[in-house]
Amino acid sequence: MKFCQHCAGPITHHIPAGDDKLRYCCLSCDVVFYQNPNNIVGTIPVSGNKVLLCRRAIQPRQGLWTLPAGFMENGETTWQGAIRETQEEAGASITLEQDSLYSVFNLPNINQVYLFFRARLDNLDFAPGAESLEVKLFTEEEIPWQEIAFAVVKTTLEQFFKDVSTQRYPVRMYDVTYSPERKAAITLISESI
Ligand SMILES: [Zn+2]
Repeated sequence: MKFCQHCAGPITHHIPAGDDKLRYCCLSCDVVFYQNPNNIVGTIPVSGNKVLLCRRAIQPRQGLWTLPAGFMENGETTWQGAIRETQEEAGASITLEQDSLYSVFNLPNINQVYLFFRARLDNLDFAPGAESLEVKLFTEEEIPWQEIAFAVVKTTLEQFFKDVSTQRYPVRMYDVTYSPERKAAITLISESI
């Protein structure tokens, strides 16, 4: 960010009075441009004993498999965003389960929060959207575990299939941190009763 969105004046990077963090600020009109974490919302779409995954057509992790998920838009709720992303990426119509919120991941290193919801596929008329190469249903055994795009997706899927065996789906929150080699460490922080 180089120029102010309001007055086109130059932007500086400094700690405003009364604050304790570096911010982008416009010295001409005194506006502070706060940068805050993004929410990424997605679903675990289920049909029978299978879960719907998308093979990514775009970077990052092009060609690898993921659950349908994407950035929340302004003006929508978390669960509305998750349903929209599932429609956009997998062409899939879903109904969220009761107690649908399933996993929450804090990723402070990259300023993101992930939320996944459990959902039922309404029908099998799914098809890859613009951001997917392929969309397919997998049993636990069929999932390409070595080709999952993101650690948060792998953790969510592993936990989901464990929970299927007990039919108990508590909400779990995890912290995700990255080593200098970009290896994710995922720590369970809380689990609902
Ligand atoms: Zn300005």
